[in-house]
Amino acid sequence: MLNIKYELTKDLKQKPDFNNLGFGTKFTDHMFIMDYTEGKGWHDPRIVPYQPISLDPSAMVFHYGQEMFEGMKAYKTEDDRVLLFRPEKNIHRTNVTNERLCIPQIDEDDMFQAINDLIKVEKDWIPTPKGTSLYIRPFIIATDPFLGVRASNSYMFMVILCPVGAYYKEGINPVKIWVETEYVRAVKGGIGFAKTGGNYAASIKAQMKAKERGYSQVLWLDGVERKYVEEVGTMNVFFKIDGEVITPSLEGSILAGVTRDSVIELLKSWNIPVSERKLSIEEIYAAAEEGKLEEAFGTGTAAVISPIGELNYDGRVISINDGKIGEVSQKIYDTITGIQTGHVEDTYGWAKE
Ligand code: PMP
Repeated sequence: MLNIKYELTKDLKQKPDFNNLGFGTKFTDHMFIMDYTEGKGWHDPRIVPYQPISLDPSAMVFHYGQEMFEGMKAYKTEDDRVLLFRPEKNIHRTNVTNERLCIPQIDEDDMFQAINDLIKVEKDWIPTPKGTSLYIRPFIIATDPFLGVRASNSYMFMVILCPVGAYYKEGINPVKIWVETEYVRAVKGGIGFAKTGGNYAASIKAQMKAKERGYSQVLWLDGVERKYVEEVGTMNVFFKIDGEVITPSLEGSILAGVTRDSVIELLKSWNIPVSERKLSIEEIYAAAEEGKLEEAFGTGTAAVISPIGELNYDGRVISINDGKIGEVSQKIYDTITGIQTGHVEDTYGWAKE
């Protein structure tokens, strides 16, 4: 149990128009901070006014990227309850990332308390219009003032919050996807399964390339053979082929998404065949040719479901489900967002107050 010190501001910000929110631009009045020092462990948990932090220019995070982050959302129900969606999954994933990045483990109950107590202070910042939520960004940075590659001995853990708008303003829109054959996001044995900045820095170049060609995201192929599909942009990916839903198996280069896991559980409970296995881009194109590629979608916290309407692989363009959202994709979207907002009965025990 953390003994959190509170330094609350009286100078509250003007809240943005909750009916017209973007993503990741407006931050709440307070943030959570806790320090780590070797020998002392995590200490000095505090909730303070949201403000810039001061770091030595030699702080290791700036040079070697030893850091991690998480992303989750809080929703306010019509009867004024605050719900988090499977927060224990994100909290556990924090320690999986920490282990890979040689960042000290964090007590999972303490992290849950830090998030919850900060949200309690910022309850009025949780927007309620349809599709909106309070995005939660916990992160850890290496702070030793030191040049040289090794694990830092000091860290900062922080949580910041931002009210975010509906990902889709006019309903769910299938997107055009560029299959990337030159750049790769991650390799087995690397850090692809960890939620750390380096993976995202490595992805920007291909993302820009796709954008320049009029595509909204990249479909990543494996780093060895450029043969098997891995993820789509910053989402996990699913393909429905001849009645079966397939998602790439987790073999080290893919992030174990909380939404991915939820989709698999939902499909199983609906008796829709679902499998986690290697899936090649050629198998997808062959299925499309035979008229068996029924749906494709990305999954992630930000959009929940992002249907894929078109793929371009080396100039070979296919359209999926006539560029419309599929039946299964829509059902998954409605169920997960319903559980998140308290509109659908949570028989899975996913929503946490
Ligand atoms: N893959 C990557 C690379 C991601 O950044 C994310 C977003 N966290 C996901 C998949 C989806 O994970 P989740 O469902 O936990 O948001």
